[in-house]
Amino acid sequence: MHQHTHLPAPPPTATQEQEQTQDQDQSREQEEPAWHRVRRPHWNCATCGDPYPCAPARTALTDLYAQDLPGLAMLMASDLHEAIKDLWRLHPDGPPQTVHELFDRFVGWTRQPEPPWPQPTAAMISSETSKFA
Ligand SMILES: [Zn+2]
Repeated sequence: MHQHTHLPAPPPTATQEQEQTQDQDQSREQEEPAWHRVRRPHWNCATCGDPYPCAPARTALTDLYAQDLPGLAMLMASDLHEAIKDLWRLHPDGPPQTVHELFDRFVGWTRQPEPPWPQPTAAMISSETSKFA
């Protein structure tokens, strides 16, 4: 049984070139992350059924974009754009969630309460200033 149909999927709007590296396929297949993928046009998770991005998807995306939070925000803004198009097509009178709620659902959570760079600790600061004492 070949299982090449279950390659890990990137987030829906992240285009990723499919490279056929046949030699490494077998070792990779065992470590595939269980992606929680969006199912359009309803924008629910195809894996757990929660509104996308569900909690596991957010965790995976945060890990994937740990070094590129602006990129994550842009990706989710792009998803929001697509979701609004889909949802208003499904619900011409307006979907269950308002645009404001959809913004929080897709983009709001990507805002980090702390700056993404490490804060200098007191020990780091004192070791720096001691050089000039
Ligand atoms: Zn899910």
